[in-house]
Amino acid sequence: MCGIVGFIGNEQAAPILLEGLSRLEYRGYDSAGVAVFDGETGTLAVHKAKGRLQVLSDQLHGGADLNSTVGVGHTRWATHGAPSDVNSHPQVSRSGRIAVVHNGIIENYAELKAFLVAQGVPFTSETDTEVVAQLIEYFYEGDLLAAVSRVLHRIEGAYALGILCADCPEQIIAVRKDGPLILGYSQEGSFIASDVTAILRHTRQVSYMEDGEVAVLTRDGIRCYNRLMQPVEKEIVTVDWEINDAEKGGYEHFMFKEIMEQPDAIRRCISPRIREGEVVFEDFSLSENFIKAMRRIYIVACGSSYHVGMVGKYHLERLTRIPVEVALGSEFRYMDPIVDENTLVIVISQSGETLDTMAALREARRLGGHILSIVNVVGSSIARESDQVLYTWAGPEIAVATTKAYSTQLALLSLLSLWLARQLNTVPEKDYRAMLSAFQELPGKMEEVLSHRDSIQYFAAQYFNHNSIFFIGRNLDYALGLEGSLKLKEISYIHSEAYASGELKHGTISLIEDGTLVVALGTYGTLFAKAMSNVVEVKARGADVLALTTANHREEMSHTADAVMVIPDIHDLLLPSLGVVPLQLFAYYVALMRGCDIDKPRNLAKSVTVE
Ligand code: GLU
Repeated sequence: MCGIVGFIGNEQAAPILLEGLSRLEYRGYDSAGVAVFDGETGTLAVHKAKGRLQVLSDQLHGGADLNSTVGVGHTRWATHGAPSDVNSHPQVSRSGRIAVVHNGIIENYAELKAFLVAQGVPFTSETDTEVVAQLIEYFYEGDLLAAVSRVLHRIEGAYALGILCADCPEQIIAVRKDGPLILGYSQEGSFIASDVTAILRHTRQVSYMEDGEVAVLTRDGIRCYNRLMQPVEKEIVTVDWEINDAEKGGYEHFMFKEIMEQPDAIRRCISPRIREGEVVFEDFSLSENFIKAMRRIYIVACGSSYHVGMVGKYHLERLTRIPVEVALGSEFRYMDPIVDENTLVIVISQSGETLDTMAALREARRLGGHILSIVNVVGSSIARESDQVLYTWAGPEIAVATTKAYSTQLALLSLLSLWLARQLNTVPEKDYRAMLSAFQELPGKMEEVLSHRDSIQYFAAQYFNHNSIFFIGRNLDYALGLEGSLKLKEISYIHSEAYASGELKHGTISLIEDGTLVVALGTYGTLFAKAMSNVVEVKARGADVLALTTANHREEMSHTADAVMVIPDIHDLLLPSLGVVPLQLFAYYVALMRGCDIDKPRNLAKSVTVE
C-alpha cells in the first residue's frame, strides 16, 4: 500500500533509497526502513524507525553511513501490527539472512505463521510480512529464486515485494501481484519502485510488472519471469511525466486519485474477508453468548463516518432485527445513552483520532458497552482503546474530503451486518448467497461507474453555478443523500442540504422555486415509486431535477427528471456503496469548475482532534 524502492548498481545504495522514499512521502506512511548488503561483514544491515523518514535519514546521515551498492527501502502504512520500529519493514528472517519489503496484505498469513511456529520458527513482529521473510528462509536451499517461487505458491493476497538475501548479494528479487511495482533501467544500475516518482531522478526508462511476474535485478540488467517461471521479455517505455505530476499518479488532485482508487480499496478490504462462500473475520470475533444476548447497537461517528452509520442502521435493523441507534460523536456523551453489557457500540473513524468519537467511546466503555471500531489507521488511539477493531485497509487518504475511506467503511459495515445476521440466523440462505455475490461484483461495478465519469462531468458543467442545492431521498437514498450533500458543500462551498423526501412538504418545499436544483436519489427499488412522486412534486414547483437511479429504472426516471445519473443494478445492500460514486464525482467536478482548492477546502482539517 505504501512505498518500495530498491537499487543494485555502481552507486551507493542508501542515499538513492532514502531520496526515493522521500518522493513517496506524499502517500502517507507511519514508519520507514532500509536494508543494504554490508560487504565487509557479509550480512544485511537493517535500519528502521517509526515516524518521519527524516528520523531514519538523520540516523544514517542521509545514507552516507552505509557503504553498499545494493539495498531495498520501504515506507510502511501499517495494516497488520501497530506502527513501531519492530513492525517496520524490511522484515527479516530468523537468521537475518533474508530481508523483505512488502506493500499490501498477505491474507493467509495467520495460517502460514501457525505452520512456521509449529516448526519452531520464532517471530519478532506482528506483521503479515514477516511470514514471507521466514517462509523464504524455510525453503531456501542455496537458490533464492527457487525459494521465492515456492513461497509464491503458498501466499495469498495482494503484494508487491522486494527481497534481498545476504547469500546472494548480487541480486534483488521483485514480485508483484495486485500491487503496483515498476522496474527501472539506467547506467547506474537497476531499480524497483512502487511508484515511478521514486526513481524519476535516476531514470525514465521503466517497465511495468504484470500480476504474477517475478524479476531478478542485477547490476547489469533485469530478468523477468511469468507465473510458471518462464522468461518473459519486458517492454521498456520512456516516462515523460514530471515529478510533480507523478506524485498524484498523473491526476490533478488527490481527491480524484482516491475516488479512482476505490475499486481496489474495496477489493483489499472485502476479499480477504470472504472465503469459501462465508464471511470470515479473522481479525475479530464476538462470542456466541454476547451475540445472542445483544439487545441494542449504537453506531457512533462524525461527518461522513456518521453517514456510513446511517446506512448501517437500515442494514443492521433489516438483517438482524436488533434496534440500532446512530449517534454523533459530539452528542453521544451528552445524551445519557442507554448502554449496558448487552450493547454493541460500533465506533467509526478514518483516522482513529477523531476527538469527539474518542470521547464517546470512553463514555460507552464506562457504561459497560462492548466496543468494536471500524478504523483506517492501524494502531490509532480509537483502535487501541476498542475491544475489537476492524481495519478498512483503504490505504492512506490525503484529500480532506473522504472518498475511499467512506467507501471501505461502508462496505465493511455492510459485511459486518451480514455476518451478524448469519450468526443470529436471521438471514435466509438464499439471500445470504445473493448478498455475498453482490460483494464480489461491487469493485467491478464501481469501475463501470468510474468509466462513465464524462457524463457526470457534463452534468456538473450544467449545474455548477447554482447557489443552493437540495438532495432528496428515502431510506437508503436519504442516507446516501446526506453524504452526497456533504461532499458537495465541503469542497465546492455551495449551500446544500439533504432531506428525507417525505419531509419536504413539512417545510423545505417552500424554498423550491423556478430553477432550484434538486438532486433526487431513487436507487432503492422498493421505494422507487415514492421517489418518482417526489420528483413530480418538486418539478411542479419549478425545480431542475438531476436524478440518480439504477439501470433498471433509468427509462422511467428520464421521462420526468431533467437529467439522470445511472448506476448498474446491484443488491439493495450495496446500492449506497455504488450510488455514492457519482455523487463524489459530481461534487469533485463542480468544485473543479468553481476553481476551489479541492484537496484542502477552507476551514477544514483531515483529522478533527478538537471538540
Ligand atoms: N501489511 C504490511 C504491514 O502491515 C504492509 C503494509 C504496507 O503496505 O505498507 O506491515
